[in-house]
Parts: sequence; C-alpha cells; structure tokens
Amino acid sequence: MQLIIRNASIPGASGTCDIAIDAGHITAVEPRVEGQADREIDAAGNLVSPGFVDAHTHLDKALVLDRYDWSQREMQATPRMTSVVESDKVKRNFTADDVRQRAVRLGRRCAAHGTTTLRSHVDIDEVVGLTDMEGVLAAKEELRGLIDVQVCPYAINGFEGQPRSEPLLCEALRMGADLVGGVPEADEDGNAHVDKVFQLANEFGIGIDFHTDQVRAARPFALPHIAEKAIADGMQGMVMASHCFALGHVPEDEHKQASDLCAQAGVSICVTPYFTMRERLALPRQAGVNVSYMSDNIQDTWQPHGNGDMLLLAIFTARLTPFNTNQELDAVLEMGTLGAAKSLGFADEVGVAVGKRADLMVLEAPTAHEAVVNQVRRLWVIKGGRVVAEDGRLVANIL
Ligand SMILES: [Zn+2]
Repeated sequence: MQLIIRNASIPGASGTCDIAIDAGHITAVEPRVEGQADREIDAAGNLVSPGFVDAHTHLDKALVLDRYDWSQREMQATPRMTSVVESDKVKRNFTADDVRQRAVRLGRRCAAHGTTTLRSHVDIDEVVGLTDMEGVLAAKEELRGLIDVQVCPYAINGFEGQPRSEPLLCEALRMGADLVGGVPEADEDGNAHVDKVFQLANEFGIGIDFHTDQVRAARPFALPHIAEKAIADGMQGMVMASHCFALGHVPEDEHKQASDLCAQAGVSICVTPYFTMRERLALPRQAGVNVSYMSDNIQDTWQPHGNGDMLLLAIFTARLTPFNTNQELDAVLEMGTLGAAKSLGFADEVGVAVGKRADLMVLEAPTAHEAVVNQVRRLWVIKGGRVVAEDGRLVANIL
C-alpha cells in the first residue's frame, strides 16, 4: 500500500475514517483500515478533500512583474486592448525557456496551495508565434507527478486580418494541446470565430474553452451561440465558457434562456471572482449549469493580483456572490474541486471514494465551510498517492 490517511473527515459524511491508497488511487474508505503502508499520515479529524482544480490560468504570461511596471500603463480604447498592447511589450522578449521556467515556478506554487490539476491557456499570435506553446508544453512535462496541466492554445487576436492565426493554432494543436481555446470578441464577427473554433475542435477531436463576453455590458453576448453549437455538434460536456460578463447585464429573460441553454449543452461557466457574481455564478448554478472559479492571470500585464491559491479565491467567491450559509460555503469548496474537475472533463475520477484518483488535500479544519472561512493551512497535498506538499511547502524530495 502506498499511503494510509487515518482519522479523516470527508465531505458529506459524519465521523472519521481511514483512507487507503495504492497505485495512485483510493482503494478503501473505512472506519479502520488494517495493515501497513509505505507512509501513514494522521489527519486528526481534519477534512480530506479532492485537490483544487484551477480551471483557467495563463502560465505563459504569469509572474512578469519584475519586468513590467503597472504605473506606466498606457490606456487604449478598451480595457482588453490595453491589456493586449501592454502584454505585447513584455511578450516580445519571451523565449521558450523563459516561459517554461515561470510556468514551472507557478505550477509548483499552485501545487503547494493544494491544486492538483490546472488548465493553462496559451497565447498564439504574431508576437510569440509558438514560443509560449513550446514553453508551457515543456513545463507540463517538468511538472508531471506534481500537478497535471491541461494546455489550451488560442488565437488571442482572432482570425480576421490575421492570416497566420489559423496555421499557427493548427500547429499548436498538433504539438500536443489538450483542447482548443477561443475569444469571440477578438473578431468583428464573433459567431464566425466560435464556428471556426468548433470546426478545429471537431477536426482534432478535442474540447473547447472560450474567453467569452469579457466586456462589462450586455453585448457582445456569444454565450448562447456557443451553447447552441455545443448541442448541434454533439459536444455536450466538452465546452467551457470563461468570464461571461454579459450575463451580468442582459435582461432577465435573456439570462434565463442562456442559462438553460448552457445547462442543456453541458457548457460549464468559470469566473474570476469579482463583478456580478450573482448573475454569472449563483443564477446559472440554480439553473443547473456547472460553475467554478479560477485564477486567470497571475501577476502579469492583465492582472497584477493573484497567487494561485484557490482557497483565497473561494472566500472571494463566497463574499462577492454572496454565499453565506454553511451549506453554501461547503458548495464553494466543491466548485473549486469537483465542479472545476467537471468543467475540465474528469469529474468521474474525482472524490474521496474507492476507485477515485488519490489527488487530495488535508485542510486544517473538520469541515469545508470552516476551511473556507478560516483560510486554513493545507496540511498535506497528495498527488497520485504521493505526498507532495506539507504545510504549504513542497516536500524535500520534490524541491
Ligand atoms: Zn484568461
């Protein structure tokens, strides 16, 4: 046996139990597991939860504040244009090895915080070509066994007037992408952008993740078309929509229609916890949409904040939505673990039950709501049955 966790509280169950782990999977969850394992840890009544899943990050652009000064930011016509232009200034000097190093550094930090899987979008454009893709793919290999990385390239400047976008994106998909990304508002014709990305996903047999409706206004509103396409192309459960700011501004009937469509299409919604959380998270969830929260940009030219700690995002989510009851706070932890795993397509493998992946964390509280409110330590992080972090730090043999 690889590992036994003794005296664990587990989500949704009363009392404590022992968890046996072998070959990277949970083999028993019982009041008392007999026998010995290579390693034994005593959870002492604390909560053992599936590890966090950060459903949307940008490893390629992260951790560049040592080379970018936010006080020198030059504003463009829209916030998105500002970020694109400012980002290009920094990206110009990227090399694949630089991208790899920063991605690994951030991946390791995320693992220490209890994240066992993350998805990284990767810029494809005239400035970086395939440099970011090369770097993130190398980082994915380097991080193997510590944190799983899903790689999602996308044409950040769209396809219109960008003749190299499609060939570069196709090359990125051939290099070993896990799915394809899109950003409809990068093009005048957002629906055509969506259709192009669906076409590529079908060709390569992979899922899709869209940066959707990033303007804080009712338009553009690409979400309904995305959900309709997911149904039409038989891609239910394979599509995620991030941001979805338009949901915070469209009339009630349009909101309801879009939420119902997403539920029907199995389109997950993922948000960075700030504005209009009731409209973008709570209401879609009530309509049956799978929702989660994510880091998005971490210490880069798009967002200087963030440290990859999903428990911090959990309390932002709770505070801003707002979720106040114990039950709602328990649900917030579940969104960042099981919910995010569902949006990434591997929910069946996640849980504290026999046969599930031993990708777990031991939080220093007996319940999820206490863990969220008290922002507790991650006592142990377990990836594939192996303890990779203790008390917020990677263990010695990983360092
Ligand atoms: Zn993003």
